[in-house]
Amino acid sequence: MEYMSTRGNYKQVNSAEAISLGMVPEGGLFVPAEIPKLNLEEITVRKNESYQKLAAWIFKKYLTDFSEDEIESAVKAAYNDQSFPEAEKTPLVKLDQNTYILELWHGPTAAFKDMALQILPHLLAESAKKLQIGNEIVILVATSGDTGKAALEGFKDVEGVKIIVFYPEAGVSRVQEDQMKTTGGKNTEVVSLKGNFDDCQNAVKEIFADKELKQRLQENNYQFSSANSINWGRLLPQIVYYFKAYLKLLQDKEIEAGEKINFTVPTGNFGNILAGYYAYRMGLPVNKFICASNDNKVLTDFLETGIYDINRDFKKTISPSMDILISSNLERFLFEMNGHDSGKINEWYQKLQTNKKFKIDGQTFTKIREMFSGKFSSEDEARKAIKKTYQNYNYLIDPHTAVGVDSLFKYRSESGDESKAVVDSTANPYKFSRAVLESLKDKEIKKDEYRIIEELEEMTAAKIHRGLAGLENMESKHQESCGQDGVKEKLEELLNL
Ligand SMILES: *Cc1c(COP(=O)(O)O)cnc(C)c1O
Repeated sequence: MEYMSTRGNYKQVNSAEAISLGMVPEGGLFVPAEIPKLNLEEITVRKNESYQKLAAWIFKKYLTDFSEDEIESAVKAAYNDQSFPEAEKTPLVKLDQNTYILELWHGPTAAFKDMALQILPHLLAESAKKLQIGNEIVILVATSGDTGKAALEGFKDVEGVKIIVFYPEAGVSRVQEDQMKTTGGKNTEVVSLKGNFDDCQNAVKEIFADKELKQRLQENNYQFSSANSINWGRLLPQIVYYFKAYLKLLQDKEIEAGEKINFTVPTGNFGNILAGYYAYRMGLPVNKFICASNDNKVLTDFLETGIYDINRDFKKTISPSMDILISSNLERFLFEMNGHDSGKINEWYQKLQTNKKFKIDGQTFTKIREMFSGKFSSEDEARKAIKKTYQNYNYLIDPHTAVGVDSLFKYRSESGDESKAVVDSTANPYKFSRAVLESLKDKEIKKDEYRIIEELEEMTAAKIHRGLAGLENMESKHQESCGQDGVKEKLEELLNL
């Protein structure tokens, strides 16, 4: 299996190279040159298989330069009973006769990013070994919340890798900050930056682009890599749970073999929903993907008009992990949908840079519309979905999942399509407890986040996630901070350059 650039500007590489490079050095993203095809029988015969076995089976199709042993030990290290205590790993909850919730947040940090970030470090370490990269790999992360903690937990104590996370002092919640600061491990560093998320992200981007620094890292046997969702090693693990959800429905006799179902995905960077699309292309029987957005509805508009237009204000919402205007994985999706035409990708992304928008061709647009529908939820609608889901089903959802649930119900009433549908649940409700409690009570609550968590626990049947329980009294292990212009200096200090 080879991987190619969406921009046609790089040689084809194997998976170890694609994963260790993260993105194409000249710009562009790596995609599989060919998608492995499975027939229905090959899929359904696995309906009783464990998550780990299913994962190893799918990984082998894509990581053909890895040995069976290498894949199996990475899977074992990632999806064990400590990091994912639920036997199912991604339990499926039935809300009503045709609506199911796929809980993707049973990993250590209570967000779905664990599904990929628990295994990426092992894939990356193994790739580096294969390519005989002797350097220690330094993962730099700029985070507005969820990714930082998930990456820290994933990379903690992985050999040959160091991880340094920068977060904006004023831009994360107290719980998110505490989650990061209490991370153990010999190879983790957490630095608060005096500024907002943009300052943080720009500082890290500058570091990545700094040629002189790169040279000095090399001399000290270090090299940078990235853990964000443009890395193929983060996308691949997400394909697995689409198969798992389908097979669970089959196992529970909720569907017939071959029956097409719908998936609704609360979307930000388009990584999660794209993984679902790859599962479909491999042969999973899917009817429609419903792409759910919040008030930052660039994707909803795109799926309605074929025009991707970021000329608009960025809105802060109660589903912050979906507050995104440029969905980086959309580039991969468009490349898959336009028949691997890198000329068009270059043209469109050039336009995005100069005009902040582009329009795709009619043929590609028609093809996309056959499989995808875009819906969005306002803040008020998301809050109502939290309350109604609790009232009607005695089931607590977080604001991201609420956008998914609301979008699904909108899609159903507009299309009349009553196919069985799975909603990806991307965070545990306790991770966003303020918005959840305020939605249930229909009013603003002025308490400290930890008191809100307690109240939510008393009020509902939902158990607090273990990753958040006791957090308030845990010892903080990281005290580093720096100013907006001090990122490079801080890095030099932490790495002894
Ligand atoms: C990252 C994230 C999303 C968005 O997922 P993408 O793969 O970026 O589309 C949705 N919900 C939660 C809770 C997240 O952390």
